[in-house]
This record gives sequence, structure tokens and C-alpha cells, in this order.
Amino acid sequence: MKRVVIIGGGIAGLSAAWSLREHCPATGFEIVLLERNDRFGGNIKTERTQGFLIEGGPDCFLSEKPWAMELSKRLGLADKFLPTNDKNRKTFVLSGGALHVLPEGVILMVPTKILPLATSSLISWPGKFRMAAELFIPKKKDASDESLGDFVRRRLGKEALDKIAEPLVAGVHAGDPETMSVRASFPKFVQLEEESGSLIRGMVKKMASMHKARKAAPAPAGDRKRVTMFMTLRDGLSELIDTLTSRLEKTENTVLRKGAPVSSIEKKDGKYTVRLESGENIDADAVVLAAPAWAASNLLKSIDAGLSEKLRTIPYVSTATVSIAFKKKDVKHPLNGFGFVVPKIEKRRIMAATWTSVKFAHRAPDDSVLIRCFVGGSKNAELVGLDDAAMVKMVKEELGDIMGIQAEPILTRVFRWKNSMPQYTIGHEERISWIDERVASIHGLYLTGSAYHGIGISDSIRYSEVVAKKIIHQFEKS
Ligand SMILES: Cc1cc2nc3c(=O)[nH]c(=O)nc-3n(C[C@H](O)[C@H](O)[C@H](O)COP(=O)(O)OP(=O)(O)OC[C@H]3O[C@@H](n4cnc5c(N)ncnc54)[C@H](O)[C@@H]3O)c2cc1C
Repeated sequence: MKRVVIIGGGIAGLSAAWSLREHCPATGFEIVLLERNDRFGGNIKTERTQGFLIEGGPDCFLSEKPWAMELSKRLGLADKFLPTNDKNRKTFVLSGGALHVLPEGVILMVPTKILPLATSSLISWPGKFRMAAELFIPKKKDASDESLGDFVRRRLGKEALDKIAEPLVAGVHAGDPETMSVRASFPKFVQLEEESGSLIRGMVKKMASMHKARKAAPAPAGDRKRVTMFMTLRDGLSELIDTLTSRLEKTENTVLRKGAPVSSIEKKDGKYTVRLESGENIDADAVVLAAPAWAASNLLKSIDAGLSEKLRTIPYVSTATVSIAFKKKDVKHPLNGFGFVVPKIEKRRIMAATWTSVKFAHRAPDDSVLIRCFVGGSKNAELVGLDDAAMVKMVKEELGDIMGIQAEPILTRVFRWKNSMPQYTIGHEERISWIDERVASIHGLYLTGSAYHGIGISDSIRYSEVVAKKIIHQFEKS
């Protein structure tokens, strides 16, 4: 029987295995998934303690990218979908030491409503006029890549970059707009400029047609769950991992192994040998590398030194999340939003904070609040190295300054994510085309994960489904 070995038991590896099983009967070939750690899930890790539900890594998926929700539905988790509490759907931006509301209608960085922008305390009058002037700025003449920083400065001005785009992007990608590729990270904005000549015009047009389509669509059935921009699962994102692993483990000819780090892969006479650090060898007809690009680079050295080198050029940054809970009565701040982001120019030690117990229900006991702070990223990578006590002290000081919280926390939890967030830097698309072509030339080898074709959970699932179909095609042909 043919065998596929999948290396990496994060969402990319697990969804590749699931997709293979969805499209092919269990008797067709064997799947062996090998995970380095003593748990599956990679960056996805939910903990429950003292009535709190704490997400160590991701806390939601973007509903606009449907693949995570579609997979969850196919796994029978549709009744577990949890929308955000949208009556509090506001984001704050720290500016001049105070929290200002991100003007309503600003979508990532593009203003779509005049009044909220005009009355915003976040942006100065010259900054507002400069943003509005975007409507008249000619579009870029060539299709070359540029940094997100250059793109936003060119279209919307420096203030929009410093106070809106940079902190929002750092809060999501932990990245630096001066090195991030706008084409790879925000292809939709590039498309808006190309098609409409203006981000504002393009976005307003897009929203109007979405509004029209929504009005034309039949009214949702009464019991249909609300879908908000960010969605999660009631019992946390680990529920997706737990469901995937338990369903896969019950499937014939499918073996999931944790605590099984792979040290190298070799290829001889069209067959692969996957070598584990334990000394065990596993033969395979196809190998899926669903580990981070730097780990894939190490494993591929003997198969293709050039590919290994190229994979190493995809940079990663480290981050940490610090979840911190207080008694509600001890927090005077109204917590009237989903949280805040911190521009680099503010020179603070946290990148962002989510007011988790406001954003989602079922995250904290009724008398408590749960806040999750983001540390590190391209701005302050060295802070990820702080020990737990120093990290918590630092976060308490930051929340004291920014939100006026002086109380002692009732719970703290630190998660470090070393070299976990791939960065799509300028030239990413060419780099990935080169990698894709090279991988396609090596029969039986596949790459998936957040380093290549989309950074979030949903895109990782989408690309793993593409890879699964390629493998089935390979087996059907041979
Ligand atoms: C703090 C944080 C917050 C985030 N928030 C969000 C969010 O809210 N929404 C969202 O969509 N995305 C978010 N992301 C991104 C999201 O986590 C990733 O897109 C997704 O989890 C990537 O999955 P993956 O399987 O590609 O990689 P990983 O989760 O990194 O999994 C790779 C796996 O490979 C294993 N591995 C490595 N080397 C070997 C080896 N030699 N042998 C065997 N196994 C190996 C690793 O142990 C790991 O389990 C966040 C990321 C972080 C770090």
C-alpha cells in the first residue's frame, strides 16, 4: 500500500491529512503524520482554567476567508461557531499616550465614511485632508512590488501609516510595514488601486455592491447563526484540532504520532525515507512538509540544497501573548471595544491588547475581565526572551499606563511563539513562485503551511486542500 508521510501536526498538516481522507477511501493509501511536540495543533493552543478560556495563539478566523468555517462545518462543529459581541465592535489606537477610537468605516487603513473620519480625534486635520486626497492620487504605473509602508505613504499619507496601518498590521502580522510586501500581504488593496485608481473609491464601490447583494439575498432563517468578521469556536480553537485528531485517529490506515521529531528526509529510486530523531526510519511514496519553512529547509538539505537555501530566506518573527485577568470591580476602564493597537511611534513595550472577555462570550466568569496582550514581533523581538515574571510585570506596567489598571491580576498566563510568524517581505510572490516550481519538479514532495500562500488559519487550510488534491492526482497517475 502506498504511504504519505506528513511532517508537522499544526492545522496545515492535520487539514492536509483530513482532506486526503475526505477525497480518497481509507483503503487507498496509508497516512502517517509526525509531530515534533507532545501535542498537536502547532500555534493553536487553548487552555481552560478557573472558569477562563485562554487562547495561547490564534483566537479567531476571518469569516471573509471561508475555509476554516467550511472545514469546521464538515467536521460537525457548525453549532459551535461563536461570533464577536458586535455591540462593542470598536478598536482603539494609542496616540499621544491616550486611546482614540479608530474611526468607524476605516477598513484596515482605508476610510469609507466621511463623518467618522472628519470628527476623529486620532488623525490631525492635515492628516485627514491627506487621506481624502487619496481619491486624486494617480495609480502606480508599473506592477512591481513595494513595501506596505511605501504603498500607504504614497496613497494615504504618513499619518495614516503611522497611526492606522502600521499598528493594525503589527497587531495581526507582527510585521514591519517597511519590509512587508504589499502585493503578497494585501493583494486586495493593490487590486483596488489597479481597478479603481483609488482605494477609497474602490472600497466604497465594493461595499455598495456587497450591500446590494445582501439586500437581494433571501432573509436568513431565524435560527441561523450570526456571522461576524471574526469568528471562533465556543470552546476555543483547540476544538478544531481535537475534532480533527480524534476523527483521523478513528480512520483506517491513518496514524498520528506526537513526540516524533523528524531529523531528515532522503530520496532514492523514487522512494523517500523519513528519518526520525529517535533513529527510526519510515518509507514513503509522498512527503508533505507542513512544518515552518525554516524547519522544512533543515529537512530538505540532502534532497535539494538550492530549495533548502531558498526556504531559509523566508523570515520569521517571534511573539508572545500574555493573558491577564482582573476582577471586574477593579477595572475602572469602560472596556467599550475589542481592544487597542499601539503604533511604533508611541514607543511602548506591547503591540496590541484584546479585551477578550468583551470581544467573545464565554471567555471569563461574569465578575472578571480577561485581557490578552501581544509582545515582541518585528518591533520588540528581544522582549519575547523575558522570563514569565518579568513579562507579566512589564505588561502590568503597560496596562497601568495605558488603561489605568492598577489592580493585582487574579490570573496570568504567558505563551511564547518563537520563530512562529512568517513574514511576507518584498519579493515574496517571486520567491514562492520559484519554490513552487522547484517543489513541482521533485516527484512526491509537497509543502504547505502559513509561510507560502496566506498567513492565517483559513489560508493554511485552503492550501493544504490544494496539496491533498495534488497527491491524489499523483497516486491516480501511478
Ligand atoms: C500569537 C499568534 C496569534 C495568531 N493569531 C491568529 C488568528 O487570530 N487568526 C489566524 O487565522 N491566524 C493567526 N495566527 C497564525 C496561525 O497561527 C497560523 O496561520 C497557523 O496556525 C499555521 O499553521 P501551520 O500548521 O502552518 O504551522 P504551525 O502551527 O507552526 O505547525 C507546524 C508544526 O510542525 C511541527 N514541526 C516542526 N518541525 C518538525 C519536525 N522536524 N518534525 C515534526 N514536526 C515538526 C511543529 O511542532 C508544529 O506543530 C497567529 C499566530 C500566532 C503565533
